[in-house]
Amino acid sequence: MVHFIGAGPGAPDLITLRGKVLLEQADTVIYAGSLVNPVLLGFCRESCRIYNSARMTLEEVLSVMRETEKSGGSTARLHTGDPSLYGAIREQIDALKREGISYDLTPGVSSFCAAAAAAEAEYTLPGISQTVIITRMAGRTPVPEKEKLALLAQHGASMAIFLSAGLLDAVQEALLKGAYTEETPCAIVYKASWPEERVLYTRLGALAQTAKEQNITHTALILAGDFLGGSYERSRLYDPSFTTGFRSASEEK
Ligand code: SAH
Repeated sequence: MVHFIGAGPGAPDLITLRGKVLLEQADTVIYAGSLVNPVLLGFCRESCRIYNSARMTLEEVLSVMRETEKSGGSTARLHTGDPSLYGAIREQIDALKREGISYDLTPGVSSFCAAAAAAEAEYTLPGISQTVIITRMAGRTPVPEKEKLALLAQHGASMAIFLSAGLLDAVQEALLKGAYTEETPCAIVYKASWPEERVLYTRLGALAQTAKEQNITHTALILAGDFLGGSYERSRLYDPSFTTGFRSASEEK
C-alpha cells in the first residue's frame, strides 16, 4: 500500500492527524526534500527506510514503492502542502494503477492557506473578491497559453502565485497588464509556518524590488489583490438583517 500524504506547509504540527498516523506506521518514507520539513521524519519508526525524492526520478520513486510492496510493507509518499497542487502525483498514481499496487490519498494544509494565516488575510473578502486564482508564472515548466498570468489578471481576483518567487519582474509586468495597478496590495510570504517565516507587505509597483532587497528568490508565495487592502463589506452571513438556513433575521431592513 502506498499512502500519498500532504505534509502541510512546514510546521510539524500542521500535518493532519491521519497523515501523522500513516507516517508513524510506514516501513518506507519518500519525502519531497526540497520543501518538506525534515522534523516530520521524527514521527517515523526507527526501522523506517527514508528516501529524499528531490534527488530521485519518477522511475526511482516507483522502484522504491515496488520493493516495499514486495516485502509487504507500506510506503508513505510525503508531499509538501497539499499533494494536489504542483505535487506530480498523477503520474505516480497512474503507474501504481497499472502495476496493481493499491494507494490512498490524505490531504494537507496547502501553503496558500498557511500564507493567508501568516498575512492574517481572507481571500474571499465580501465586496472585493469571491475567487482565488492559484497559479504560477511560466518558467522552465510551461503554463498553457490560455492561462498566461496576464490573462488571468484580467479578473482582478485574489491571487496566490506559486513557484514564481525568482521571476517577480515578469509577475509584476503580467499582473499590471490585467486589472491590477501599481498600488494593488501584495504580500510576499516566505516559508509560511516555518520558524523563519517572513511576511513582506508591498504594492504591485514595488513587488520585484521588495523581493530583491530582502533576498527572497524561493520558497515564497506571492499574494496579490485588494483582499490585502483596507476596504470591504461586512458579510451577509453574520448580518442581523439577513436570514440564513440556521438563523432568522432579527431586524427588518
Ligand atoms: N503542494 C504544495 C506546493 C508545492 S509547489 C502546497 O500545497 O503548498 C512549491 C511552491 O509552493 C514553492 O515554490 C512556494 O511557492 C510554495 N510553498 C511551499 N511551501 C511554502 C511555504 N511554507 N511558504 C511559502 N510558500 C511555500
